[in-house]
Amino acid sequence: MAGLSLAGVTKSFGDFDAVKDVSIDVKDGEFLAVLGPSGCGKTTLLRLVAGFEKLTAGEIRIGSDSVSSGEFNVPPEKRRVGIVFQNYALWPHMTVAENIGYSLKVAKVDRAEAKKRIDDALALVNLQGLGERRPANLSGGQRQRVALARCLVAAPSLVLFDEPLANLDVHLRAAMEDEFAAFHERTGTTIVYITHDQAEAMALADRIAVMDKGRLAQLATPRELYSEPANAMVASFIAQGMVLPAKVLTSEDSGHCRVEALGQEVVVRCRPGERPRDNAQICVRASDLVAAEAGEQGVDGSVKRAVYKGGAARIEFVPAAWPDVALHFEQREPNPFEAGSAARLRIASGWLIPAESAA
Ligand code: ATP
Repeated sequence: MAGLSLAGVTKSFGDFDAVKDVSIDVKDGEFLAVLGPSGCGKTTLLRLVAGFEKLTAGEIRIGSDSVSSGEFNVPPEKRRVGIVFQNYALWPHMTVAENIGYSLKVAKVDRAEAKKRIDDALALVNLQGLGERRPANLSGGQRQRVALARCLVAAPSLVLFDEPLANLDVHLRAAMEDEFAAFHERTGTTIVYITHDQAEAMALADRIAVMDKGRLAQLATPRELYSEPANAMVASFIAQGMVLPAKVLTSEDSGHCRVEALGQEVVVRCRPGERPRDNAQICVRASDLVAAEAGEQGVDGSVKRAVYKGGAARIEFVPAAWPDVALHFEQREPNPFEAGSAARLRIASGWLIPAESAA
């Protein structure tokens, strides 16, 4: 297996930059998810790594080999990159074993050797004994595993996943997520996994690259993305974070600041070195909002909606003095917040969005 290095990667279509100055180092054996809203450039990035698109600027290296730069472009079939597509792309007239072994047949690999590699690949994806079936007689999850085995049999340097679970139902997605995680652990394959589903990215990836309008917005572990978003886009995109205007009053110690937000003072987490300033922003998660006790500082407003979620309700709240701000939080049963009723919330904590990226 090999790592992957992108340096200043840019892809323009005419004067539109679909991918702009993206630099990422994926370590050997790492599971990287590339996450972002529709049109942010995820598929273009994958196509650049696979070799289906030529770079406009920058360089791509797989292991120690440069495969794309302004001057040259190694063709897809010479990159040893495996791809698992969302629509499986299996040949219906071939058996599972024939689908998996097709690339070996084309490469004229000896029959006994090919059989061994096909059997090994079937075992890696837990499909022992199904080699003689046709794709039509498999479930969606099994077909996706055949696609995975077919890409593994060619011993790729790295494997790209292009929204592989997008066609599966919710239960099967969860089961396949577990399978992908187990597969990664077993094989140590370097994986780049494109998805717009953040729960999937969070569950699977060592690190996540969040893209926004062709640029890399943040590259971090799932936990860091959630608790320390680098900018307002990441804060609101990940787990529906609420981004609120704030004023930094004092910096309490190296990791905390006192801020004023929605008329309330609160101590939030922050990067070391933050200074008092106006026009700041904080990111507040649903778990950072609580009902204010009598005599506590808080935000007055009204409950817009209370949606039952099984064991808890999602409460949507509008502050009276800031009618354009939408807050939401979870209330466990029994739920005292009814739609239309007045309420008082307290912001209990949050994260100061770093100075250099605040709007
Ligand atoms: P989705 O999640 O919807 O698949 P994405 O993040 O994968 O989106 P891309 O498919 O990479 O996004 O597209 C990024 C942008 O580049 C889009 O605005 C798209 O219209 C544009 N784009 C992609 N391919 C081409 C092309 N061949 N010619 C012109 N524009 C393109």
